[in-house]
Amino acid sequence: MKVETISKDSQLEITIKLNENQSISCTVTPPDGDVSFVDILPEVYTIYNKVLESTLAEHSRNGLHTKCDKGCGTCCHQLVTVSIHEAILLVHLVNSMKDPERSRIQKAFDNILEKLEDKGLLKDLLDFHVNKFDDKANIINIQKEYWHLNQNCPFLVDASCSIYPFRPFICRQYLVSSDPAYCKGSFKNDRLVKKIPLTHDFASSAASFDGEEAIFTRGIPLPTIFLINGLLTYFPRPKAPAAEMITRYLRHVAEFFSR
Ligand code: SF4
Repeated sequence: MKVETISKDSQLEITIKLNENQSISCTVTPPDGDVSFVDILPEVYTIYNKVLESTLAEHSRNGLHTKCDKGCGTCCHQLVTVSIHEAILLVHLVNSMKDPERSRIQKAFDNILEKLEDKGLLKDLLDFHVNKFDDKANIINIQKEYWHLNQNCPFLVDASCSIYPFRPFICRQYLVSSDPAYCKGSFKNDRLVKKIPLTHDFASSAASFDGEEAIFTRGIPLPTIFLINGLLTYFPRPKAPAAEMITRYLRHVAEFFSR
């Protein structure tokens, strides 16, 4: 993956060569002045949409089609993990909503936390995701226990994502080519679920990037974003002009998370 960016007036033109056959270009209008990575996440989501569109079109040409469709929402019962930046953005997004939507969402978060505490899962869930993210076996166990709690993501409304333009990278990346019915049997039918292969992992990139350089990967469990919001602001979030911040992140993806 090769990245070229050109600043013109208040816009940023981006060209990404994904591989020999595929490249995308798009133009975004980032905010003025020095920003942290959180501030330009909406622009980065726009860029990622283009990357994903191109990847799916290429798969389609080769006969591999995604079966994910609006109104499914099965994967929205999984334990979703997000980067620190996305956790901050989502908290901000909910806090800027009006009632009754804001109260509904906050209550849904509270209900999930209560269930996690009742089952004795909350402490481990935080510990493994925030501090021991490389302990994959334990994380998978926790994810399995979470799945059996059968909790909707607080943002899921009528089996659709109510914050679709702001949904985290991990949600954008979860796409299957197998029968969607198999997704209902996660942790039993995993061998039947065929995920669409993606060439670049923007989710892990965001979870291991502080706005300047590579950092220890941290995945914040989505249900805990309000609980630990105060702590999140302690993580360093360097600032830079928006064009530079976007370029740094895309180069981070290219360097560490291209498959
Ligand atoms: S944020 Fe949206 S897409 Fe992601 S799990 Fe929640 S409802 Fe589903």
